[in-house]
Amino acid sequence: MEHANKSGVQRWKALPPAADSVLECIGGTPLVRLSRVERALDVACKLYGKCEFLNAGGSVKDRIAVRMLLEAERQGRIKPGDTLIEPTSGNTGIGIALVAAVRGYRCIITMPEKMSEEKVNILKLLGAEIVRTPTEAAFDSPDSHISVARRLTAEIPNSFILDQYQNPENVLAHYHGTAAEILEQVPEGRVDVFVAGAGTGGTITGCARRFKEQAPATKIVGVDPEGSILAQPEALNAKGVHSYAVEGIGYDFVPGVLDRSLVDLWVKTSDRESFCAARQLIALEGLLVGGSSGAALVGALRALDQLDLRQRTDVVVVLILPDSCRNYMSKFVSDSWMMKHGFLDDVTPRELWEAYP
Ligand code: PMP
Repeated sequence: MEHANKSGVQRWKALPPAADSVLECIGGTPLVRLSRVERALDVACKLYGKCEFLNAGGSVKDRIAVRMLLEAERQGRIKPGDTLIEPTSGNTGIGIALVAAVRGYRCIITMPEKMSEEKVNILKLLGAEIVRTPTEAAFDSPDSHISVARRLTAEIPNSFILDQYQNPENVLAHYHGTAAEILEQVPEGRVDVFVAGAGTGGTITGCARRFKEQAPATKIVGVDPEGSILAQPEALNAKGVHSYAVEGIGYDFVPGVLDRSLVDLWVKTSDRESFCAARQLIALEGLLVGGSSGAALVGALRALDQLDLRQRTDVVVVLILPDSCRNYMSKFVSDSWMMKHGFLDDVTPRELWEAYP
């Protein structure tokens, strides 16, 4: 709601006081009703998007970066001047590099070749050193971004892997942060269906725990790209492990922090429908989201159909919008890239429309 501040300037919301550093600008992201998407896609439920792309470093992973790093400092395991090494699909790297820059750590990021140049260039500006690894390398092969990170910590003195795949702070960042904020923000005070893609699984695990504690009937929907094996039952992954273009979700192993027993329904998504849905979220709602946000929207629609809830006006659905399209300017944001990859034959709204359910 609009109000005027002391000097009479019209504002949409009260402003927080000046922050001591950018670290205080992580979390506290907006929750936005997706009413244009509801109308366009004939969804009677109330759809809300949690705008994690508005975090300081541009993604949901800023939350775990600041929490994992400050907690390791608090426990005396690391101190400024040490080296932080992290295998990541990019966004955790940006989060850690940002916190490392502010707190005075050296930062080395190992990441598969597939990840966008946009992410690499931001990491460089944040002062991180980057080691690229082959996208095809299986997680347990010596060339994978995980194995390379382990090798580097063995070689470099005073170096540490915060390890987003195993670190309990990854889950807690979402339990105490993302999910607690959503419950405070959602006008209905509850979440009936929660939809999130899984990478490490920290977001879905931490949020699911919080929501199920508050309301055990909350349905948790996991989104897993074709080519990944996180979905259950196994039959959903019948196409096996293969490469795909959406970044940040899906793996060829089940990360330690992902508790799949909390997920009620898994939905598989394709590159084409995820990118088209992300483009539609941008076009309809003006939300500048990345490809995994599109996957979350596709997952939400498919889950609502499977649960027979799409036409229920009393159902509250929340999706996570993990990162920004600014990470993908040379990829799905570009019409020619979409056409080159066969994701779009034409860029008319009608085509966008028909590309996913
Ligand atoms: N989307 C994007 C763009 C990401 O970078 C990530 C993190 N890998 C996710 C979704 C999934 O988040 P999580 O690791 O918490 O499962």
